[in-house]
Amino acid sequence: MLQESPQCLLSLILDKWSADQNTNQIFTLDTGWVTRGRFEEETRKAAVGIYRSGISANDRVLIFPDRSFEFLRVYLATLRLGAVAVMANPEYTESELAHLVALSKPTAFWTRSESKASFLNELGEAGIHLGGFAGPGSHLASSKGKLLRIADSPTGNGEVSLDFSQGTDSALVFFTSGTTGKPKGVLMSHGSLGSNLKALQEIWEWAEHDELLLSLPLFHMHGLGVGINGSLALGSKVVILPKFEPSLVASAISSYDISMFFGVPTMYTRLLASGDASLLAGLRLSVSGSAPMGIELHQSLRAILGNYVVERYGMSEAAMISSNPYNGMRIPNSVGPPLPGIAVDIESESSEILVKGPNLFDGYLGDLGSTEASFDHLGRFRTGDSGFIDDSGYLVISGRLKDLIITGGFNVYPREVEDVLSKHPGVTDVAVVGKPSQQWGEEIVAFVVADGVSPEELMSGCALELVDYKRPKKIVFLDSIPKNSMGKTLYKDLKAAVG
Ligand code: AMP
Repeated sequence: MLQESPQCLLSLILDKWSADQNTNQIFTLDTGWVTRGRFEEETRKAAVGIYRSGISANDRVLIFPDRSFEFLRVYLATLRLGAVAVMANPEYTESELAHLVALSKPTAFWTRSESKASFLNELGEAGIHLGGFAGPGSHLASSKGKLLRIADSPTGNGEVSLDFSQGTDSALVFFTSGTTGKPKGVLMSHGSLGSNLKALQEIWEWAEHDELLLSLPLFHMHGLGVGINGSLALGSKVVILPKFEPSLVASAISSYDISMFFGVPTMYTRLLASGDASLLAGLRLSVSGSAPMGIELHQSLRAILGNYVVERYGMSEAAMISSNPYNGMRIPNSVGPPLPGIAVDIESESSEILVKGPNLFDGYLGDLGSTEASFDHLGRFRTGDSGFIDDSGYLVISGRLKDLIITGGFNVYPREVEDVLSKHPGVTDVAVVGKPSQQWGEEIVAFVVADGVSPEELMSGCALELVDYKRPKKIVFLDSIPKNSMGKTLYKDLKAAVG
C-alpha cells in the first residue's frame, strides 16, 4: 500500500502538542517529566531566542546532543524556526569535526563542551561563519560571540515566524557511521522522516499509550530519527536514560510504565550477560537494529522473552527500510518485509539491496558526485548492502558490499563466516576481514573474542559448515572487537591492523 503524500515531521509533532497539553511526554534526568504543553511552550520560547541571535530559516545549526531536555529544546526550536539540525557525534575528534563543519557549513552550533566550542570558534575564524552555544547551561552565542540565555527570550513570537516547514523542507542532517570511509552528511526532509514514522506506527502498532525506554545515542537515525521523533510525532511517551547501562535499564523498567525498548545488538548482549534481559519480557516490544543481531543472540533472547526481538533494517539515507512485524511471523536473521510504501529490489549481479520510497534522503551535503552515484537509472537508492528476499518475502542481509572479501576469485561475505564461528558456545564476539595476499588476492582473517577455545576447534567447526575457500586462514584472539557507539564493527580498523 503506497502512502498518498509524505507526512511532515514537524506538523505531526505540532498536531500532538495541540491535541493534548497536559499529558506527560518526555522524561530526562535533568528535568524529570515534561508535558506536551510545556514542551511546546519551551521550544517556542527557545526558537524566538535563537532567531533573535541571528539564526533564521534554512540556516544549519550544528548540534552535539546529550540526553538532556536542554538538548531537546534546542533541537525542536531549530526545527520550529525552519532551520536544519545537523547532528554530530559528541565523540568526534577535531579532524572529524573539521570535516563535518566543512561539509555542513553551519551558522551556529550547540554544545556543552568548552573545548569543542573554542575549536569551532577557531574554525569560524578560518573563514566559516559560525555562531556558538556554550555550556554548561542554556546559553547561545551569536556569531558575534555575544552570549544569550535562551530562557531569557521574551514570550510571544513577536515578528518571528515559526512552524511553517512543509514535507519537502529539510529537517535534519545525519552523518553516516564512517565505518568504511569518511562520514557523509545525509540531508533528510520533514516528509521523509514523517512518512517513515507513520509506516512504523502501522507495523509496530506504535500507539499513544506506549512508553519507550531510550538509551541510544541521539546523534543518529536510530535514537533521534526513530526513538525521539517517533515518540513526539506519534504522541507516545519516552524515558531517556543518561547512558546505556544494564542496571539503569533494569531500574527504569521497574520504575516507569515502559512498553518498548529500542537497542543495538551489543546492548542486548550486555543485558543477557548481566541477567537483566528477563525484564524485557514484560514489555510489549523490543526492537534491534543498526547492526546484525545474529542467530545465536536471537535464540538466547527468545528463550527468555518468549518471542524473537523485532529486528529491523535502516540507514541514515533511508530511515527505516524493513522490519519484522510486531504482530505476525518474526524470522531471526531476517530484517522482515519492506515497510508500507517502500519498495526493495535486489540487483541481480551484485545482490545489492536497492530501495525506493518516500523515506529516501535528499542528497549528501556538498557531494553531488556521491549523491548521483548512489541512485540507479530507475531512481532506486543503492544501499551498499547485499542480500536476498526469502520465500516469505522477508529481506535477509548478507553484508556490506564494501566488506566483501574476494579470495582466490571467490566472493565471501564476512557475515557468513562470522555466523559459523559464533555458533561455538565459547565465542562471544567475532569479526572477519580480508588481508591482502599475493597468493589469494585476499585471505580471510577471523578476530575472535572467546574463552577457553582453541583455534583448531574453531577451524574444525568451519570445516563442517564452510567450503574451503570460506574458511579463515588465520584466527586472532582479541579481548574485544572494536565497535562504534552504535555497536557497528569497525572493519576498517581491523583491516588496517592486518593490512
Ligand atoms: P547508518 O547509516 O549509520 O545507520 O548505518 C546503516 C547500515 O547499518 C546499513 O547500511 C547496514 O549495513 C547496517 N544495518 C542497519 N540495520 C541492520 C541490521 N538489522 N542488520 C544488519 N545490518 C544493519
